[in-house]
Amino acid sequence: MHEPAATTTFALDRVTAAVTEIFVRAGSSPGEAGIVARNLVDAEATGHASHGLCQVPIYLNSLALDHLQPDRHARILRDEPPFLVVDGDFGYGQVIAREAADLAIARAKTKGATILAIRNAHHIGRVGSYGEQAIRAGLAAVFFVNVVSRPQQAPFGGIRPRLGTNPICVALPATPAHPPLLLDFATSAVAANKCRVAMNRGEEMDDGQLIGPRGEATRAPSVMFSEPTGAILPFGGHKGSGLALVCEILGGVIAAGLPSLPANLRPGRIVNNVLAFVFDPARIADGDWTGLADEVYGYVAGTPPAHGVERVLLPGDPERGNRLHAARTGLKIAPETLSALRTAATGQGFDLDTLLAD
Ligand code: NAD
Repeated sequence: MHEPAATTTFALDRVTAAVTEIFVRAGSSPGEAGIVARNLVDAEATGHASHGLCQVPIYLNSLALDHLQPDRHARILRDEPPFLVVDGDFGYGQVIAREAADLAIARAKTKGATILAIRNAHHIGRVGSYGEQAIRAGLAAVFFVNVVSRPQQAPFGGIRPRLGTNPICVALPATPAHPPLLLDFATSAVAANKCRVAMNRGEEMDDGQLIGPRGEATRAPSVMFSEPTGAILPFGGHKGSGLALVCEILGGVIAAGLPSLPANLRPGRIVNNVLAFVFDPARIADGDWTGLADEVYGYVAGTPPAHGVERVLLPGDPERGNRLHAARTGLKIAPETLSALRTAATGQGFDLDTLLAD
């Protein structure tokens, strides 16, 4: 393992401006480029670098391969409350999922609930950002997402990758004593890009996360980038594996008719399909549910912490803390990500450092 190179810190708005410029030059309207850039910068700020700036070259590659179409919008295919089905036409996932979530939220505000299907969105990034849209509207939301790209996750008991990292997100609005709850994770033991980040830094993964091509346990992230590839194990054994399969059926089969089967894979293509439930908890609970939720949050967060743990956190706490820290101190960008951004900017005809320094 080699010593990782130092990270560099930049003001959030400078990074957002520089990334916006990359996407404008790559064919997006300034509005779209800004939405994508803000989403990636925010993912980085919340502590999920795997879904942040390292995605920029991946998206540029998707554009070059014609797997990603600029300036597409969520196109309504069916609007029969409670059902809402939208097609993303392979536009930027950050735009498609954001618009689709807004449409679902507007309907859930009046009708109480929306069952939203999003099909054919390019990578939507951090799913939690759409949960946060529901939270801002005072609503709850549950997302099941499939990933149509080279399979990365082995099902429980298997030794070859057959599933995507298929994320799940549950979002609940703030209660009087607690901030919003935001559970948002891949159903694989780690998100796939965390292996790339570790490989670039010369780091190993934790035990129990990866297997090599013959099913042997390994900590080397490089197994995910060689042929034949290894696989990421599901989190929680059969439980994560079952949830990944549920994402595949709900998002891939039912919402989109595009599961991650070999016939649907194209080199360099990444598609996310989503089945989401957006609803007003107040339309279900008897009376005010928030006080009772606070009791539960307080009871759980008040658990005596284990040795070496400062306090028991609730889902959403780490991201909130990281985001506040980044707003105060600036965004730390890993050297390999910065170098990839420089290359991306040069490819689009401008000097990244000039914009970062402005
Ligand atoms: P992760 O393993 O870091 O887990 C994050 C979740 O766990 C969050 O809800 C967080 O608040 C909670 N959490 C973390 N530490 C905690 C603690 N100490 N106590 C209590 N809760 C804690 O996430 P991940 O699996 O690496 O996923 C990262 C991101 O990748 C997510 O935003 C996910 O949506 C995204 N993702 C996207 C895709 C896609 O195709 N678009 C695929 C996979 C993952």
